[in-house]
Amino acid sequence: MPSSPLLIIGSMAFDDLDLPSGDARDIVGGSATYAGLAASYFTQVRVVAVVGEDFPAHTLDDLGRRGVDVSGVERAKGKTFRWWGRYAADLTSRTTLDTQLNVFADFKPKLPASFAESPYVLLGNIHPALQLEVLAQMKRPKLVAADTMNFWISGERKLLGQVLEKVDLLVVNDEELRQLAEVHNLKRAARAVLKMGPKRLIVKRGEYGALLFEEGDSFFVPAYPLEDEVDPTGAGDSFAGALLGYLAQRDNTDRSTLRQALHTGATVASFCVEGVGTARIAGLDAATIRARTVELRSLVHPGD
Ligand code: AMP
Repeated sequence: MPSSPLLIIGSMAFDDLDLPSGDARDIVGGSATYAGLAASYFTQVRVVAVVGEDFPAHTLDDLGRRGVDVSGVERAKGKTFRWWGRYAADLTSRTTLDTQLNVFADFKPKLPASFAESPYVLLGNIHPALQLEVLAQMKRPKLVAADTMNFWISGERKLLGQVLEKVDLLVVNDEELRQLAEVHNLKRAARAVLKMGPKRLIVKRGEYGALLFEEGDSFFVPAYPLEDEVDPTGAGDSFAGALLGYLAQRDNTDRSTLRQALHTGATVASFCVEGVGTARIAGLDAATIRARTVELRSLVHPGD
């Protein structure tokens, strides 16, 4: 089966998580960490990010053992990016209490020569200026996908607009979509955002699944119903990582492959929620993912 490399830029972080089950501190996270792990089950992954002197070497080694090429992860003087989030008791909403860019403040991504040829690119949630800098160094990628967050929508809207003009696929959650479009109704908001540049838009809706919008077509995938929801941090990044990893593995972006990729993204995201930080997402295997994807599909397939 063809498999193409996927390049991911995003954050590598220490997260402080206030969860209903208790506070978790100094948890290794970040959009590139979650997306990289999720994608590694499907294709060869290359990560571009920066970490500080305090970032554990074994985390990068673990990613390397999973086949993720971390030669584009720079270790800079200073502290690693840090994020602090507090979840509501039912885990359906969260508040950002603090974001410290630290080493990301002065980061100038420089892609290793081999990375620039990657056919699939995920501009993970990070400063849109960095997303643009990575894109400028890429040589004719087949598919550019991007994710973002309220922090950048409110703080860097203009630069984010430039990113949107250059992406094929935007992956955001419903709150971010509404904020970006400044429209509440999801369909209208989707139409407005599709006019900003992306040809396709995926809207993640947590426990309500995800929607795909593109010219003349839309598609829905449910969320896998979980019994034990522990920590949703990184579920969105895992969704995007697995989705892109699947497309890269198939080396195909047609409608039916994208629909299958949505099932895969939803499945991998559900695993992420079952553990604190990357605990669950780091210990999966292809057979476990496949079995749950089959279960997810049968949830909405009425049979003959
Ligand atoms: P998600 O739950 O999928 O939205 O992703 C949460 C992850 O995103 C956490 O591991 C954070 O470290 C990371 N994160 C939070 N805020 C930002 C930000 N402004 N830029 C980049 N990464 C962030």
